[in-house]
Amino acid sequence: MTDCFYCAHKVDPSFEDTVNLQKFLTARKKITTAERSQLCAKHQRKTAKAVKYARFLALLPYTAYQTDKAGIES
Ligand SMILES: [Zn+2]
Repeated sequence: MTDCFYCAHKVDPSFEDTVNLQKFLTARKKITTAERSQLCAKHQRKTAKAVKYARFLALLPYTAYQTDKAGIES
């Protein structure tokens, strides 16, 4: 029915679950749009909140500034 990752696995996004939250970040660590993440509105909202809290706790980066993954030469 839905392509939503969190609905399919019957879990909610958590700030602790950085492995899965990273699936919804771009190479430059921006949060992906709902169109691209394929999440439902509820889980897109909760994912964005979880990513922002994880960033505050330094579990996820705010930006990929000067890292190899972003394709920037340092
Ligand atoms: Zn969902």
